[in-house]
Amino acid sequence: MNVTARQIAVRSIATEPLRLSASFPNGKAEDRLPDLFGANVFNDAVQRARLPHGVYAALRRTIDSGVELEPGIADAVANAMKDWAVERGATHFTHWFQPMTGLTAQKHDAFVRQIGDGRAILEFSGKELIKGEPDASSFPSGGIRATFEARGYTAWDPASPAFLRETPWGATLTIPTAFCSWTGEALDKKTPLLRSCEAIDAQAVRLLHLLGEKEVTRVYPTTGPEQEYFLIDRQFYLLRPDLVSCGRTLFGARPPKGQELEDHYFGAISQRVLAFMMDLEHELWKLGIPIKTRHNEVAPSQFELAPIYEQVSVATDHNMLTMEVLKEVAERHGLHCLLAEKPFAGINGSGKHNNWSLSDNLGNNLLEPGSTPHDNLKFVLFLTAILRAVDLHQDILRASVATAGNDYPFLGTQLEEVTAALIENRAPKSGGAGSGPGNGAREMRLGVSPLPPLPRDQSDRNRTSPFAFTGNKFEFRAVGSSQSIAYPNTILNTMVAESLDVMSTEIEKRGGSGDRREVIHALVRETLTKHRRILFSGDNYSAEWVAEAERRGLHNMKDTPSALTAFSAKKNIELFDRYKVFSPRETESRANVLNQMYAHRVSVEAATTKDIASTLILPAALEFQKRLADAIVASAAASKDVDLKAHRDLLVQVATSINRLKSTTEALARARHEAEETAGGAAAHAATFRDRVVPAMVAVREQADLLETLVADDLWPLPKYREILFLH
Ligand code: ADP
Ligand code: MG
Repeated sequence: MNVTARQIAVRSIATEPLRLSASFPNGKAEDRLPDLFGANVFNDAVQRARLPHGVYAALRRTIDSGVELEPGIADAVANAMKDWAVERGATHFTHWFQPMTGLTAQKHDAFVRQIGDGRAILEFSGKELIKGEPDASSFPSGGIRATFEARGYTAWDPASPAFLRETPWGATLTIPTAFCSWTGEALDKKTPLLRSCEAIDAQAVRLLHLLGEKEVTRVYPTTGPEQEYFLIDRQFYLLRPDLVSCGRTLFGARPPKGQELEDHYFGAISQRVLAFMMDLEHELWKLGIPIKTRHNEVAPSQFELAPIYEQVSVATDHNMLTMEVLKEVAERHGLHCLLAEKPFAGINGSGKHNNWSLSDNLGNNLLEPGSTPHDNLKFVLFLTAILRAVDLHQDILRASVATAGNDYPFLGTQLEEVTAALIENRAPKSGGAGSGPGNGAREMRLGVSPLPPLPRDQSDRNRTSPFAFTGNKFEFRAVGSSQSIAYPNTILNTMVAESLDVMSTEIEKRGGSGDRREVIHALVRETLTKHRRILFSGDNYSAEWVAEAERRGLHNMKDTPSALTAFSAKKNIELFDRYKVFSPRETESRANVLNQMYAHRVSVEAATTKDIASTLILPAALEFQKRLADAIVASAAASKDVDLKAHRDLLVQVATSINRLKSTTEALARARHEAEETAGGAAAHAATFRDRVVPAMVAVREQADLLETLVADDLWPLPKYREILFLH
C-alpha cells in the first residue's frame, strides 16, 4: 500500500510534542501584565514620559480635538518615536494603511542616513512621520486613479498610536495612516471611517444639545468585534491547494461526525489550542489590544476571541492586527488559522459580531437605558433614530458586508415588543430576565417615568437576528469573519448620522422651546410607527420570515452582486455625499472594487476547482477504476464461480462519476472563460460569475465528493474533513 502525504501528516500529528513559545506565561500575572500590556505601543503614557511638555500637549490637542499638528512639533515627535523604537530593536519604520483590498499594506524604510565619512546614523524626520508616498498604482482604485495621477500618499493618523511589530530578527516601527490620491480622494477604508465618525459626532452632539446636555462636546462610536476562526494542523493546510489558494475548501465529503453532537461549543479547550491562545493573547496584549474572551465555537476546530470595546477607528486597526497575529502565531504552533466565512461545507461558518454603540466625552453610553426620565428620553430618541436608519438604509447595511465568502441574506432586527410599548405608551412586557423592581405592571409614560429594564435576555436569545439590540449596544452579526470592520461601521455611522440629523431638524422645527418632551414623544411615536416593519423577533432564517419580509417590502439581497447595486442607488450616493463620507466618485469606486474582487475571487476558485479536479481527483479515481477492473479480470480468470455483479456495479458507478467529473470540469472551464470575456462594467462581470461560474463549480464538486466516498482511502490525495476538522 502507498504511504500518502496524508498518512505521514497524521503520523506526525500523533507524535509532535506540544510547542511552547518563549512568551508563554511564567510568574504571577499581576507582576507581568503592567510590563506586557501595551509594551509595543507608543501610547499616551510613553508619549507623556518621552516628549517635552509643550510637544506632548500639542500632540494631545491634535489627538483629542482633531486640530492640525503644528509643523514644528512633528520633528520632535518623530525623534522620540524613533528613539523608543530603536531601543526595542527597530531598524525600520513603515506607514501602515488599509487599501480597498480589505487587507493592510506596508512598505518598510530603514532609519539609516549616511553621514559622509562612510558611516551611517539612525534618523527619522517629522516629514517622514507625517507623509509617505507609496506607489499607488498596484492598489485597486475602482477607477479613481485612471483619470488622475497614479501616485498616492499616506498620511499619519495621530489618533491611532504607532506600534512595534516584532520578529526574532528585529522590529519595525509601524505608523497607522490614511491612504489618499493626490487629488485628496480616499483610496482606503480608514479615511471614510474617520469621516463617518465626524458626521455622527456632529449630529449626535447637536441632538444632545437640543436635549439640554450642553456639557457634551464629543460623541464617538464604540466597537467590540467578536472574531471567530478555525484552527487546523498546518500539514493538512499545505496538502490542500484549495485552502492555500482560496482560504476555503472547494471539495470534501461530509464527515461521519460533524457538529451534530454539539460537543464542541464552550467545551474544554485542548492543550495544543490553549497553548496557541495564550501565546496569541500575549502578543496581542503587547500591542495594546484588549483581548478578553476565548472559547470553543459551535463547529469542530472553531474558536472565538473577543476584545473589550474601543473607539471604532482604533478597534478597526486592532481587528486588522488581530487577524494578522492570529495567522502568525498559528504558524509558530504548527497550526493554520482559517478566517474565511465558510471554510467547510455543511459545517457552521465564521462571522464577526460587530458590537456597536455611541459614547459621549463624559463616558456615557448613549444606548444604555437610563434610570432617570431624562436618560430614558435620550435613550429612546437614539434607539428610534437607529431603527429608522436600519429601515431606510437596509440596502447599504447589507452591501457593507457583501463579499464572495459572505452571501448572507439580510433582513430585519428585533425589539418588536419594546417598540410596540413605546408607540402605545405602555410598559413593555418583560421577557423575564429584565424584570426590575415594579417592572411590567407600572404605567410607563414615554420619557416621564424611567423605562423598565429591557428584556435583554429575550433580545439576545434570538441568535438569528442580523442586527440585534443586546441590552446597551447593537450587535451587527452579518459581518464576515475575514472582513475589515471598516465599511460596516462607516455605513452604520453614516446612516445613523442622517437619522439623528433628521430628528434634530424635526425637533427644532416643531419648537417647544423650554420643555421639548411632548414634541419628542410625538416624534418618537410617529417615527417608530412608520419604521416598525423592520422589527421581527422570530427566526430570521425561516421561510415564513422571508415571505413576511417580502410582504412588508423589506430587502433580501441573496448574493454579493445584487447587494452591491445599493451603491448605485441615487439615495445612497446622495447620503454619502451629504455627510462627506464618500464623494459620488468614491462611492462608485467602492462598488467597482467590491465587484471586481468578487469576480476575481470566484475566478480563482473556479481555476483551483478545475486544477484539483483534473490533476488530483481524476487520477486517483482512474487508479481506483483500474484497481477494480484488474480485480474483476483476475477474479474471473481465477474462478468461474465468483459472483462479480457487485464489483461490476461499483466499476460502472465509478466510471460514470469519472465521466461526469470530466464533463462538469470542462463546462466549468468554458463558463469561466466566457465570464472573463464578458463585456460591460464590473457589476456585469460579477453577475456573470455569479450566474454561470458558481453553479458550474457546484456541479464539479458534487461528482468529486461522490468519488471521495467510493475511492479507496489510500488513493485519495486530499486530507479529508474528518481529518482536518478533528485531528490536532
Ligand atoms: P454578549 O456576549 O452578551 O454579546 P459581552 O459583554 O460579552 O456581551 O460583549 C460582547 C462584545 O461587545 C465585547 O467585545 C464587548 O467589549 C462589546 N461591547 C460591550 N459594550 C459595548 C459598547 N458599549 N459598545 C461597543 N461594544 C461593546
Ligand atoms: Mg455577543
